Amino acid sequence: MKCPVCRNGETRPGTATLTLERGPLTMVVRHVPAQICDNCGEEYIDEEAARQALEQAEAAARQGVTVEVREFAAA
Ligand SMILES: [Zn+2]
Repeated sequence: MKCPVCRNGETRPGTATLTLERGPLTMVVRHVPAQICDNCGEEYIDEEAARQALEQAEAAARQGVTVEVREFAAA
């Protein structure tokens, strides 16, 4: 798609690092599927991937985890 931020670049499939905060939990999820702008580098995380990462963050928060860095794993 055309990048809505710079209006110049085209997005290409890639991966991004997503940081989620849920109460006391900070979770960093690496290699989340995303579209990356080839001009400005803006990252657009795939909606379904973001939803899954959020669910995993909420599960980790319930277990009392406060800091977590993990690789994205599709459910
Ligand atoms: Zn852009």
